[in-house]
Amino acid sequence: MTEKFEAEMRKSLLTLKQELMDNINSQNNSFHSLVSSADPKDDVDIASDVIDREMLESMSSQDLNKLRSIDAALSRLNAKRFGICMKCGKKISEARLRALPYAVLCIECQNNDER
Ligand SMILES: [Zn+2]
Repeated sequence: MTEKFEAEMRKSLLTLKQELMDNINSQNNSFHSLVSSADPKDDVDIASDVIDREMLESMSSQDLNKLRSIDAALSRLNAKRFGICMKCGKKISEARLRALPYAVLCIECQNNDER
């Protein structure tokens, strides 16, 4: 994976995360005050540091799963393990990652899973 693609993916993930946060914020004002008090540069750690049990309960499980997936993808980027299928260990195609930056399975394994 090129550095350029990595940077593109990081940007996509952070944008997705921001959108999700904004979405959650608009549903929950107390969440908003907590998130905005966090250091905005510390994007990767916001979820683990700022979100406590109460906030987790106020989030829909769908949003929460997505947030976790995004955070996991950012961790994989940092660990240089991004874009590797968790099931078969092959590279996930760049086209798929562009469409779904937090994908953990390659398209073949995803299709097998859904069957
Ligand atoms: Zn796979």
